[in-house]
Amino acid sequence: MEINAPALLRQAHFTMAANEVKQLPPDNGIEVGFAGRSNAGKSSAINCITGIKSLARTSKTPGRTQQIIYFDLDDTRRLVDLPGYGYAKVPVSVKKHWHALMESYFNKRQSLKGLVLVMDVRHPLKTFDMQMLEWCKATGTPIQMLLTKADKLSRGAAAKQLTITRNQLKKDGLLLGDLQLFSSLKSTGKEEILEKLTEWFGIE
Ligand code: GDP
Repeated sequence: MEINAPALLRQAHFTMAANEVKQLPPDNGIEVGFAGRSNAGKSSAINCITGIKSLARTSKTPGRTQQIIYFDLDDTRRLVDLPGYGYAKVPVSVKKHWHALMESYFNKRQSLKGLVLVMDVRHPLKTFDMQMLEWCKATGTPIQMLLTKADKLSRGAAAKQLTITRNQLKKDGLLLGDLQLFSSLKSTGKEEILEKLTEWFGIE
């Protein structure tokens, strides 16, 4: 059965895109970030979770991938689509900008309540993901990790990947939150992530 997101999440709408931390909206209320290497399935996950088909762009225009994109839920709560790279080769200058932008975002953003880290179930824990985990650890940011595109593996293989990834995180001291299977195509794991977002946003 298709699970609907709480009304608050279904209200998500694009409000702004920022290249620099100083352009961000006032740092109050609650925001939840979504991060992932490009092509991991982050946009599809945002669309699946909110139930809004074309909220986040699944086919990226260059440049936009380097921006922090805001989807407001109401006056005090926001979803934030954080920039990602990693699928194709990117110039050093782009990586540098990304690193500076994200480091500053994590260190300064008081309203960041939690991070959803989206990883392709077949290729988790790449350098990009490890960096996000390190920033979460350093700043004490709660995290929910999605192993998405779970429909691309058999049930058994997906469960095995979940265990392998969890063990690796434990070994690295980076099991900082829940790790779950997800599929935007099949809505697998939607209930679990909705529960987490309900908690973070304080939805009644
Ligand atoms: P992003 O770059 O991380 O925002 O990734 P997208 O959401 O644009 O997805 C990248 C590609 O993976 C697209 O072709 C999607 O259709 C596909 N994709 C994303 N999520 C899933 C999923 O859960 N299952 C399957 N089979 N394909 C997916």
